[in-house]
Amino acid sequence: MIYLDNCATTKPYDEVLKTFVEVNNSYYGNPASINKYGKTVNKLLNAARTQVADILGVESDTIYFTSCATESNNIALLGSVEHKKDFGNRIIVSKIEHPSVLETFRELEHRGFILDYVNVDENGFIDLEHLKSLLTKETILVSVMHVNNIFGAIQPIGKIVELLKDYPKIHFHVDGVQGVLKEKIDLTMIDSYSISAHKFHGLKGVGVLYLKSRRTTHNITFGGGQENGLRSGTVNVPGAVSLAKALRLTQEKVNDVKEKHYEYKKLIVDELSTIEHVIINSPLQNDFVDSIINISLPKIKGEAIINALNERGIMVSTTSACSSRTFHLNEALYTRGLSKENIEGSIRVSFSYETKLEEVKKFIEVFKDEYYKKFKEVIESGI
Ligand code: PLP
Repeated sequence: MIYLDNCATTKPYDEVLKTFVEVNNSYYGNPASINKYGKTVNKLLNAARTQVADILGVESDTIYFTSCATESNNIALLGSVEHKKDFGNRIIVSKIEHPSVLETFRELEHRGFILDYVNVDENGFIDLEHLKSLLTKETILVSVMHVNNIFGAIQPIGKIVELLKDYPKIHFHVDGVQGVLKEKIDLTMIDSYSISAHKFHGLKGVGVLYLKSRRTTHNITFGGGQENGLRSGTVNVPGAVSLAKALRLTQEKVNDVKEKHYEYKKLIVDELSTIEHVIINSPLQNDFVDSIINISLPKIKGEAIINALNERGIMVSTTSACSSRTFHLNEALYTRGLSKENIEGSIRVSFSYETKLEEVKKFIEVFKDEYYKKFKEVIESGI
């Protein structure tokens, strides 16, 4: 199998699996217990917290362990608004965000907040002028993702921070799931940042929320008061320790991986962009990550391309979900203004540190072969 779906999830490092088992075996005590064993486990948990904080360049008391980035996003968005609701009732987001952000904003809208959608340009970058025009004294929350998960655009977080300087009441959240370690960011400039272990070769079911100030964010669930009361529930210590390990191992590889991914993306863009009807929705330019490429064959359904590649052992993903009754166009691509046919025919290819040049070459070969054998004629017949 050639696995090119690393945006969806990644294969855990062997060392991470080993750590998870070891911690479960030898440190299964509850970190909240005040007995000696509990204290030892708590020390381990805090060592993991410090390691994560050091890698992210922040203080360890700003790091909270959660169950996933969806939970981190929910806590940051709902919790900050709960704190700030007396200062205003406007919130800003774009429609290219992951559902764990977008649907939380829609929930806030149902709860009575005024939701302003900020535009993006045709490449999917936040329209800074539009954002500026939407900011008011009533605005209390802005959320912008670091790197888009569908096509890889790197958002201008620093420029947004500049715009928000005149609005100290605004909580600025960044969903860092697809950007962490891939792109540099100074987290001390923003209020919160979410990451998820399974996107960087850690395990599913563990995430982190960086939160600059606990004081300005309410907890949205209630219980035993773990994680400084922000996220009650017995902490998944093996998950937290293995997340810290995965983050460190990923950090060590960052530069080598960047070079490799550039080479892979360039090869795909060079080879496929010259083919008639193929559209590359992730241009080869500095403000797009090289690990994600979104490619379309308009008039062909993404699912048909996925199936053709599947049969030849290549795993990529489609970006528009087909449920039994309806076909949903991917909202992020739609917001960029891409045509319906382009969106329906789009697939996403994503690399990891493990992806090999031969695998990328094989993908190109098979894609071309299927295109000329199956898809070209269908596209040209206009049916
Ligand atoms: N945000 C982005 C940009 C993502 O790509 C994902 C997962 O695909 C998430 C949030 C949600 O992450 P998790 O699976 O940890 O809930």
